Amino acid sequence: MKFCTKCGAELHDEAVICPKCGCAVSPASNALDNSISDKNWVTTFLLCFFLGILGVHRFYVGRVGSGIAMILTMGGLGIWLFVDFIVIICGNFKDKYGKVIKNK
Ligand SMILES: [Zn+2]
Repeated sequence: MKFCTKCGAELHDEAVICPKCGCAVSPASNALDNSISDKNWVTTFLLCFFLGILGVHRFYVGRVGSGIAMILTMGGLGIWLFVDFIVIICGNFKDKYGKVIKNK
């Protein structure tokens, strides 16, 4: 048994949408390992590879502030972007909740 984080209604364990308020139920809330992000690793990797200079991979994982900073600094003149790229490949890149994005 779990509960909607928005309205507190009781939910079925497999529920993805709360029937009471219609809000999406966070898939992370019933994940066995809460430290793993539900963001897609391949998407993060590709966004960083092709659009990393615009911080798109950071926007994707919800880290908007640092994404904007990345645009303004042009990916830290490429160095910051390069570091992000390595971190993503290593499976240590984190979303805005501090959960790591793994290649599942
Ligand atoms: Zn609800």
